[in-house]
Amino acid sequence: RAKEKGKNSYQFFTTEINAAAAEHLALENRLRKAIAQGEFQLYYQPIMDMESGAIVSVEALIRWVNPELGLINPDKFIPLAEETGLIIPIGEWVLQTACAQAKIWNQENTYPLRIAINLSARQFQQIDFLERILEILKKTDLLPNRLELELTESMIMDNMEASLETLNALKKMGCQISLDDFGTGYSSLAYLKRFPIDTVKIDHSFVRDISTDPDDAAITTAVTTMAHSLRRKVVAEGVETREQLEFLDNIGVNGVQGYFISYPAPAENFTRLLQERHYINHDLLRL
Ligand code: C2E
Ligand code: MG
Ligand code: MG
Ligand code: MG
Repeated sequence: RAKEKGKNSYQFFTTEINAAAAEHLALENRLRKAIAQGEFQLYYQPIMDMESGAIVSVEALIRWVNPELGLINPDKFIPLAEETGLIIPIGEWVLQTACAQAKIWNQENTYPLRIAINLSARQFQQIDFLERILEILKKTDLLPNRLELELTESMIMDNMEASLETLNALKKMGCQISLDDFGTGYSSLAYLKRFPIDTVKIDHSFVRDISTDPDDAAITTAVTTMAHSLRRKVVAEGVETREQLEFLDNIGVNGVQGYFISYPAPAENFTRLLQERHYINHDLLRL
């Protein structure tokens, strides 16, 4: 009887695993088709310079719009894309599309605007990654100093020697390098010293409770002070309230990004925003 029960639960278990595997495979197939059928879209979110109030950079954030599944956020498919290698063609599409868009915005505007693009580990570790970047810059006719690449600590950690070489080459070309989600990974300050990183982006999990949690306030302040002593800029992610903005202004962060400034939105919305006001909002800075 026990044996029977055991067998049943085993069967139940395998059925569950099979269902999960089938779902996984179905999603993978959909993702494969999504590339061919052009189901990806880029949203853009501005990063505001704290001193001038100007939009200095725009981050491209991918969305997947599937006819059956609807709008899918990157956290739901980027890990799968990474695992299956589909991130390579997807990442290529992102770079190409975002750089082309940045070229248009820079032609329409009188002041320089950078495009910030999230890289994935596999993409960054491609042997011909530098050539890929160079080719895209050439094809889209975008100046290298308008391109900002966002990496995470773990991506650099995976292979420090190769990463250092790639980053040095990107810097030499004139690209900007940002360390994304700072504070969530290994966060060894040694990287800041060793690697040519221009900007540290403090993860929104620290920014969220900055005005109520003294520990988060202390961490954010310490990271900012430390980054500044190492001559790096600091951008705070996930700024949603005036209180957060005020706090960040007081500790002297260089840039802010978040719903309080602007939600991520399709290119047309951002074009309109740029036409309406070069400076995103002077009122935001009247703290
Ligand atoms: P990330 O690079 O840290 O991007 C910031 C995330 O925070 C975005 O989520 C953005 O929509 C969200 N966000 C912006 N302002 C606020 C705010 O005020 N409050 C809160 N709670 N969230 C805010 P999203 O667009 O869902 O992207 C999630 C992650 O997916 C990104 O995190 C990035 O790591 C990854 N990702 C997005 N686009 C791409 C891409 O083209 N390629 C790769 N490899 N990864 C991407
Ligand atoms: Mg990012
Ligand atoms: Mg990121
Ligand atoms: Mg982030």
